[in-house]
Amino acid sequence: MPRAPRSWQPPFCPNPTCDSHALPGPWRFKKKGFYTRLRGPRKVQRYNCRSCDRNFSTQTFSPTYWLKRPDLQKPLFWRLISCSGLRQIAREFGLSHSTVQRQTERLGRHCLLFHEALRPRVPAEPLVLDGFRTFEHSQYWPFDLNLLVGRSFYVYGFNAAELRRSGTMRPAQQDKRERLEAEHGRPHPRATRRAVTELVSRIIPAGAEAVIDSDEHTAYPEAFAQLRDRRITHRTTSSKESRTPRNPLFPANLSDLLLRHGSANHKRETIAFSKRRQGALYRAAIWVVWRNYMKSRSENRRDDPPAVFLGLTPKRLSVREILRDRCFPWRVELQGWLADCYAARIPTRRLARCRTHELRYAF
Ligand SMILES: [Zn+2]
Repeated sequence: MPRAPRSWQPPFCPNPTCDSHALPGPWRFKKKGFYTRLRGPRKVQRYNCRSCDRNFSTQTFSPTYWLKRPDLQKPLFWRLISCSGLRQIAREFGLSHSTVQRQTERLGRHCLLFHEALRPRVPAEPLVLDGFRTFEHSQYWPFDLNLLVGRSFYVYGFNAAELRRSGTMRPAQQDKRERLEAEHGRPHPRATRRAVTELVSRIIPAGAEAVIDSDEHTAYPEAFAQLRDRRITHRTTSSKESRTPRNPLFPANLSDLLLRHGSANHKRETIAFSKRRQGALYRAAIWVVWRNYMKSRSENRRDDPPAVFLGLTPKRLSVREILRDRCFPWRVELQGWLADCYAARIPTRRLARCRTHELRYAF
C-alpha cells in the first residue's frame, strides 16, 4: 500500500499486550533501518517499540502485510462484488484457487472490522429485518443470511442461521436428507430465533428504542420477546405484498436483489456456491462495505452511498481508501458471534474439520 514514507508515523504499537497502550503520554518508538521486498513498496521502514521491544514496519499497518501478492487485493475486491467465482479470478491472475480463497478471507476479515468500527452504535432510523435464503456445501444444507437494513439502505449487520432442507423433495432426496441428518445432526429447531436475537442485540444496545419491519416469520416476535431491555416496535408486512419501493420491506428486498446480483455464490443453480457458511459470511462482509460506503443509494440518481447520507463518512469511499489502513481486531473489541466469525469458527455441519484463523501476528 503506497504511503508517504517521510511524513508517516506509526500511530500505536501493534503489539496488543504492550504497556504503551495503558501508559499516559506519547508512545515512544525508534526507527530501525529498512528491508527490501520484491513487490511494492520495495523499501520498507522498520521500527522498534521502546516499551515492549517489538519490531515492526510500515507494512504492519497495511492490509497487505505479509502478502506475496499485495497487488491483488484491490482487483479482488471488485471481482468479489461483481459475481466472479474464485476459480475464475484465479484463472485471470494466474494463481491457484487457494491463494484467491485466502486473500478473499483476509479481505472479508478486514471488511468485518472496517464496518464494525464505522457503524452507528444506536441506529437512528427504522430498520428492516430479513432472511436471505441460500445454502452451503450442497442444497441439503440451506441457511438464512439475516440482514438488518435501515430505511437509508445502510446495512447495519448480518449473521447466519442454519435451516433444515424443506420444500418438495423426491423420495430419494428425502432418504438422502435422513441419511445426512443421521450422520451430521440437524440444525437446531430454534436456530433462526437464536440468530435474530444475537443480531438485534448486537445492533440495538440495551435501553435503546427501535422500530423494526419484517415479514410474518414466526421466529422474529419470539426473538424480540427475549430482548426485554430494548423497546422494539415490531411491524409486519406479508411477503406476498408486491415488492415495490412503497413496500415497507423495500430496503431489505433491494439488499437481497443486489446481494444475489453481485455474488457468484448466491446465484440460482450455480456451481460457485459457498462450500462453507463461513466463506459466505466473509463475502457478505465485503458486499456490506461496498453497499454502505461505496455504492449509490439509487443507481439511477447516482446519489451518495448510505453512509454519506447518514453522516458517517464525508464522501463516497474508494477501494483504495477502504484498504489504506489495516484494522486490528483487538482495537475493535470483537465479542460473541462476531469474534467467532472473524476467526472463521462458524462450523459447517457436513465437514468434520473446518480450518479456523489462528495466526499469531497476521491475525
Ligand atoms: Zn510496544
